[in-house]
Amino acid sequence: MHFSRFPRVRVAHLPTALEFMPRLTEVLGGPQLWIKRDDCTGLSTGGNKTRKLEFLMAEAQAMGADLVITQGATQSNHARQTAAFACRLGMDCHILLEDRTNSTDPNYNYNGNVFLDYLHGATAEKRPGGVDMHAEMEAVAQSFRDKGRTVYTIPGGGSNPTGALGYANCALELVNQANAQGLRIDHLVHATGSAGTQAGLIAGLKAMNAQIPLLGIGVRAPKAKQEENVFNLAQATAEKLGCPGVVQREDVVANTDYVGEGYGIPTPGCIEAIEMFARLEGILLDPVYSGKGAAGLIDLCREGHFKPTDNIVFLHTGGSVALFGYTDAFKYEGTHLAVAAE
Ligand SMILES: *Cc1c(COP(=O)(O)O)cnc(C)c1O
Repeated sequence: MHFSRFPRVRVAHLPTALEFMPRLTEVLGGPQLWIKRDDCTGLSTGGNKTRKLEFLMAEAQAMGADLVITQGATQSNHARQTAAFACRLGMDCHILLEDRTNSTDPNYNYNGNVFLDYLHGATAEKRPGGVDMHAEMEAVAQSFRDKGRTVYTIPGGGSNPTGALGYANCALELVNQANAQGLRIDHLVHATGSAGTQAGLIAGLKAMNAQIPLLGIGVRAPKAKQEENVFNLAQATAEKLGCPGVVQREDVVANTDYVGEGYGIPTPGCIEAIEMFARLEGILLDPVYSGKGAAGLIDLCREGHFKPTDNIVFLHTGGSVALFGYTDAFKYEGTHLAVAAE
């Protein structure tokens, strides 16, 4: 795979570290748990969207865009990383935020990622949950074009074949690291949402015949829908890479048993996973994605889904800034009162 064929703005701190998690491994009694630190990609507290944006923002730059527009949920990590990336390129950023949770918590609505969106100088507008966010975004983009702006729109999560190249490249990076360290990876696990991360990874893994099974832990859509979204995007990404047909339907596996009540609503397992990573490994997860991904990983370990000697890599996709939008979900002494007491 020859990624330098594609336009790219290099911003991410790569390669991200691949580390062993000794205390979590010990507490769970195996398998051997490793973590790939894509929470440390370096842009405005990091996260997985930065790898995708390296390829997307290169397209924006090539078309001479002066404004990028994207959309996501209120606490979107993608929106925050897009806003920060636009700063690096001297572009303006406008964001449409969908209220998927109906939360009235001021921290959820204004702290965490939302605070950073504004800190990066982005403008934002809200939409109620359930509207067609892509259509809303295209309509807003047209109104800016009518005013003479050169607009580049980025789909939710940066998930199209261009963005997914970032995760095909991550697959190559991971396999190179494993080879250099002499690590045999038996399974790769991560949280899957808008599908670009899983689609890029599976396209990359299959294109190089890595023989590493990939498991996405869903955070929103039901299994059939999630797998269909990932498969369609993985096929298109493989085609863009010059390897059409390498991804089979059965390569795409999503487990959606850990979504709980819905997108952005933490589950008890998610809170437990966040506390376990924080207290055993000093690693911060988030309540929307990586916490639910880790909840799935921990449950599957407990259920004996993996062999004790298996090496499992958890891809940490970031998002810990969203913790500050969810202090209410953690009943530590006084912390959930911080805003109310103001
Ligand atoms: C967006 C996101 C994901 C999911 O990645 P997709 O490519 O949208 O499937 C996982 N974790 C975090 C922290 C994210 O922000």
